[in-house]
Amino acid sequence: EHFLGRIESLDGGLNSFVTITGEQALAAAREADARRARGEAGPLTGVPMAHKDIFCTDGVRTTCGSKMLDNFIAPYDAGVVERFRAAGCPMLGKTNMDEFAMGSSNETSFHGPVKNPWDTGRVPGGSSGGSAAAVAARLTPSATGTDTGGSIRQPASLCGVTGMKPTYGRVSRWGMIAFASSLDQGGPMAASAEDCALLANVMCGFDGRDSTSIECADEDFTARLDEPLKGLRIGLPREFFGDGMAPGVAAAVDEAIGEYRKLGAEVKDVTLPNSGLSVPAYYVVAPAECSSNLARFDGVRYGYRCENPKDLMDLYTRSRGEGFGAEVKRRIMVGTYALSAGYFDAYYLKAQKVRRLIAEDFRKAFEDVDVIMGPTSPTTAFRLGEKTDDPVSMYLSDIYTIAVNLAGLPGMSIPAGFSDGLPVGLQLIGNYFEEARLLGVAHQYQ
Ligand code: GLN
Repeated sequence: EHFLGRIESLDGGLNSFVTITGEQALAAAREADARRARGEAGPLTGVPMAHKDIFCTDGVRTTCGSKMLDNFIAPYDAGVVERFRAAGCPMLGKTNMDEFAMGSSNETSFHGPVKNPWDTGRVPGGSSGGSAAAVAARLTPSATGTDTGGSIRQPASLCGVTGMKPTYGRVSRWGMIAFASSLDQGGPMAASAEDCALLANVMCGFDGRDSTSIECADEDFTARLDEPLKGLRIGLPREFFGDGMAPGVAAAVDEAIGEYRKLGAEVKDVTLPNSGLSVPAYYVVAPAECSSNLARFDGVRYGYRCENPKDLMDLYTRSRGEGFGAEVKRRIMVGTYALSAGYFDAYYLKAQKVRRLIAEDFRKAFEDVDVIMGPTSPTTAFRLGEKTDDPVSMYLSDIYTIAVNLAGLPGMSIPAGFSDGLPVGLQLIGNYFEEARLLGVAHQYQ
């Protein structure tokens, strides 16, 4: 009731929720109380949360921020949603997002932009901007997000919350609407690393229905929260500390790293020489995969269908033309081009090779350090509309986050102070399956 009340009174000004499921949440809360009374409660039983509107929810509209799916009611729960339901977490509703998770500001959403709670003239980041804003405004204690190129970490940074993208394959993609399948990964967003660890305990785990799910033993992500940082080796990638980072962001990041020194960590320089190629490689790989994934939205099987189609071709053309927004169309066209005969080797294959080089850079860096740190985003939250006419400048918002997705590594963003009253995020990158360590490193700072 507390959180539903906050949503009702405050979300009008933020637009962080697309759908509110109050009745269901209250029913689930009563059920959680009963479970607790029977002594069957887990650590999150009865703790409400919100799901990004990219996760299918049985009987509840799932729009993925698009007109294409505005009337879509999923007939089943995503793997992630099932897990939280089984843990007894009432779902408050579904959070706003960039259309099909393509964006860095939440401005591509069919439902209109989300406002940043720290300054409602500014963006919350994206694509999980609704989840980040809702957590920041304490409309929910936590929310799920997804991160294909930075969509958990960048909005977490811009809204001053904690978010984690686990190692690729840790979190089930079953029922999570696909954007770029080899990069997409769900993860938790909350007020602290400790909360993220509790959420990760529920969220992570093998799912045989997702062909890239990793079959590894369940792990307690809270296990290393209290591990001292003495002797921790932190690597600062030279390439992340050059031009392009706003001075206020650089100052906050430096100060946070100074805190880590005080906590006993050893700080060294590392190099990720190919990281400058991550944005161009991503903008071949992600659109290529999206053009293939989004082919299913054809006006026939489900989702938006145009009025009075003349024939089959007209049905396809108009349903897709009217159902998708401009950014999604741009990606489908770029991706289709990069995959066409004659261009495949020059673009897609080349981008895949660059991707391997980027992963190799990290492998080498992790021979010398335990954690890599740097900024999450080059700037604090920008103004609504500031970058909407310039896709490339929007794409550069993810300059520090994308390499992590290309390599499949775990990454976090944690609040690290302010610049001109706006939150700054510190990014923590770990080696594969090192989430528990990463969460501990974040928790010790918090
Ligand atoms: N901003 C990036 C994009 O537009 C990343 C999005 C994401 O991680 N889903 O593709």
